[in-house]
Amino acid sequence: MRDRTSSLLTDRSYRRLLDSLYEGVFVVDRDRTILYWNDAAEQMTGYKRGEVVGKHCWDGFLTHVDNRGIRLCADRCLLQEAMELKKSVEGKVFFHHRNGHEVPVTVRTTPILGDRGKVLGAAQIFSDNSSTEDLGRKIRELERMALLDPLTKLGNRRYGQMNLSGKLREFKRYGWPFGIFFIDIDKFKAVNDTYGHEAGDRVLRLVAAIIRNGLRSSDVVVRWGGEEFVAIVASVDEEKLRHVGEKLRALVERSSISLEKETKNVTISIGATLARKKDSAAALIKRADALMYQSKKEGRNRLSI
Ligand code: GH3
Ligand code: MG
Ligand code: MG
Repeated sequence: MRDRTSSLLTDRSYRRLLDSLYEGVFVVDRDRTILYWNDAAEQMTGYKRGEVVGKHCWDGFLTHVDNRGIRLCADRCLLQEAMELKKSVEGKVFFHHRNGHEVPVTVRTTPILGDRGKVLGAAQIFSDNSSTEDLGRKIRELERMALLDPLTKLGNRRYGQMNLSGKLREFKRYGWPFGIFFIDIDKFKAVNDTYGHEAGDRVLRLVAAIIRNGLRSSDVVVRWGGEEFVAIVASVDEEKLRHVGEKLRALVERSSISLEKETKNVTISIGATLARKKDSAAALIKRADALMYQSKKEGRNRLSI
């Protein structure tokens, strides 16, 4: 067994590397005798290297159970499977910790192949499920908080500004034209005042969805603030921009939402403008905002370009 150990893991620095991993790692030979057991494996299972090296993985100290309670060591050992199939296998399992509790882990088992594909043994890598899932969720949450508007699930203003800068750069460098809409819901305060803030939120989500669905997926629409949206529409001339904006206006006007016992419809006012070569992002937004304000002055539920 010693010989096999040395043929599998000769290099000391390689062992040190394995010991520095956060994932638990152990190595077995073809009979599934444990040859190596890293530091993380000790921490995660509670078993010291000296207690497990030389034992078989199926000796009963380290029961693997899948989420249906099936004991994997006896019936479907992932190490055995990897060696038979000569490829990596993965699974979510529970380890029995030395202290008695179950540890949920993601396990990846990979065969160790020698000359001419001969199976020498296998390695199993396992990571603590609960903490990695938690971490992933936190990261996704942060990403969302940083760039997504939680109410409408559209991008937020920061996302809009990033996109706008990018589109302006491309426009200046390659001449790819684009236009923007500045959109504001008409008399929205009255919706809140009459039906309550939650009804207002529903209207915001509805309008956001109508605008999103009324544009191509390559166009970008963000919630700029309160009841204001900015859409960035690529590859358009003035006529096309007006046409798309009119379509959005009409889609919102025609939709309705039931609030309390009434059916209510809202309208939007739009300012539309094409990007110009000298525009900064702020100047472009300001022009679109002024045009939106003009639509308000002219009676709302309209588009100014
Ligand atoms: P106008 O036609 O001139 O745009 O009138 P308006 O009532 O839409 O304009 P105003 O700016 O006076 O009102 C905007 C309202 O939007 C005020 C604010 O309470 C509401 N609002 C902003 N953010 C939210 C939100 O997240 N949820 C809800 N329900 N209301 C919001
Ligand atoms: Mg407003
Ligand atoms: Mg408004």
